[in-house]
Amino acid sequence: FKILAIESSCDDTACAIIRSDGMVLGEKVHSQKEHVHFGGVVPEIAARAHMHHLPFLVNSLLDEAKVSWCQIDAIAATCGPGLIGGVIVGSSFAKGLALSKKIPFIGINHIEAHALTVRLPDISNKKIEFPYLLFLTSGGHCQCIYVDDVGKYQHLGGTIDDAAGEAFDKVAKMLGLPWPGGPALEALAKEGNENAFIMPHPLYGRDGCDFSFSGLKTAVANLLEPYKDLSCLPRSLAADIAASFQKTITDTIINRLENAIQMAPKTKILATAGGVAANQYLKFHLMRLASQYNMEFIAPPIRYCTDNAVMIGWTAIEILKKTITNNFIPNDIDLIPRPRWPLSEMKSRFEH
Ligand code: ATP
Ligand code: FE
Repeated sequence: FKILAIESSCDDTACAIIRSDGMVLGEKVHSQKEHVHFGGVVPEIAARAHMHHLPFLVNSLLDEAKVSWCQIDAIAATCGPGLIGGVIVGSSFAKGLALSKKIPFIGINHIEAHALTVRLPDISNKKIEFPYLLFLTSGGHCQCIYVDDVGKYQHLGGTIDDAAGEAFDKVAKMLGLPWPGGPALEALAKEGNENAFIMPHPLYGRDGCDFSFSGLKTAVANLLEPYKDLSCLPRSLAADIAASFQKTITDTIINRLENAIQMAPKTKILATAGGVAANQYLKFHLMRLASQYNMEFIAPPIRYCTDNAVMIGWTAIEILKKTITNNFIPNDIDLIPRPRWPLSEMKSRFEH
């Protein structure tokens, strides 16, 4: 079967057509640039931009993929968690299409989609089997999930304040770098000395695998106190701060993940997702951690780590493959979009 998938939970308007064997037949993404002037995503602007771009994007996707409406078997869309305006726009648009084409609508949890992305046949020659440990790290999320099966997820720990991407973005902004700051900070850090500054390691050495990054941000703010006018900040000093910050946040993440590995001793795979997974320094240390514990490390290509519609379609396929064997095809047309939607609630789908 073929699924048309839509993602609109943040600032990327995305749609894709994916076949039940995981083959991606077409994909379109519009990354909203409107937010650059504001130094962060403005929810109202994002929702309006999704509304503006979706109809054209979906039409051109079908045209270019040479797929007609009668070949689409179901429509999937993100129903949460995320910026609720955009989620309402995308899911309502998808529901309207599903009703008019008389095909099922499948509401997808965005975090579940990140968690199942590593199983996409497109990213590995062999199928990744359950269970595995997933470290999800993006602008809005930072959590460690034990992925036992489709619909069976255990939240091992998460951030108690900022997400890692948020910390990268805020520190980058303090250093005068453009938004989104993560990639710019990584580039600047290459010029610096990572041992130049000792910064706090929040929660380091404590039990569990929760994360905390706001103290790190304050430490950088204190270092920059004498440079209220950023034009007086020497580039070499900015680079040392960037490198020290990147090292500290990575050290903390690795320490927390070591606990997560102990909490899920059966796992032989460490996987990652989310935009921060683009960071080469972090990725190197994640890879090293995995090898220390004889685990396989899997990082999807960056286009599948950041928000995308392929993962939404793939999650619908994983769900359909399970539910169809139970002689039950879901239609989530009544599902109400949610700004928060814990993964622990996902198993209810299979409890019929
Ligand atoms: P969501 O949290 O809803 O999944 P998002 O748009 O915030 O969505 P992503 O698109 O997955 O998240 O990732 C964007 C984040 O990743 C930004 O915070 C960005 O700074 C960070 N990021 C991207 N590249 C790098 C990098 N090389 N180093 C560090 N952080 C990075
Ligand atoms: Fe995301």
